[in-house]
Amino acid sequence: MIFHLLSRLSVKVPSVVYRAALIMKPQVVFVLGGPGAGKGTQCARIVENYSYTHLSAGDLLRAERSREGSEFGQLIDSYIKDGKIVPVEITINLLRKAMEETMEMDEKKFRFLIDGFPRNEDNLQGWTTVMEGKANVKFVLFFDCTSEVCIDRCLERGKSSGRTDDNRASLEKRIQTYLQSTRPIISLYEKQGKVRTVDASRGVDEVFDHVKAILDKEG
Ligand code: UDP
Ligand code: MG
Repeated sequence: MIFHLLSRLSVKVPSVVYRAALIMKPQVVFVLGGPGAGKGTQCARIVENYSYTHLSAGDLLRAERSREGSEFGQLIDSYIKDGKIVPVEITINLLRKAMEETMEMDEKKFRFLIDGFPRNEDNLQGWTTVMEGKANVKFVLFFDCTSEVCIDRCLERGKSSGRTDDNRASLEKRIQTYLQSTRPIISLYEKQGKVRTVDASRGVDEVFDHVKAILDKEG
């Protein structure tokens, strides 16, 4: 009898842990900063060293733009060229789908870096409406640098990125959008004590050293 009980228990312990992982809410870090601040580069480094899945809102939108049969292709294309922010209904669905697909494939992948989102009030509202209670925003990782650094990096990147928005005209609009719409969102999170700021004007390795220190502390 006792053996029977014990063997049942010993099976049950790991299965409880397993079930806890299954019902684990997605843990989200929003990654924000100006265009070219290094969000994508640093997220790639984080993924190499920590158990996070990187979801770039911009990349998801670009993929949707070129997806055959997408009803939003043209709209996304013109918003991106104009440095404007795509209506959140489109972006949030792409993000939600990507998160669900990741967790369906591997229930242990519940940590996400959401890069380049939320960029304005509309984004934030959309997130709250769709994800409030369903995901936990741990903090905002903010890559901070001047507009000059952003512009220089994007123009440099534009030589090989093939991106329709890495040119001076689009960049000016992107910087405007960032300053007018995204900075206030970062300030909002700052007031909640949720922003971890990194000086992003330094080299990739130095910036990553700081990022590591933050992630090691935050878990
Ligand atoms: N974009 C958007 N909503 C988002 C993320 C991106 O509308 O949530 C659009 C917007 O037009 C932006 C462009 O995609 O200027 C490029 O975004 P990305 O994050 O790729 O640029 P980055 O800031 O990394 O240079
Ligand atoms: Mg990016």
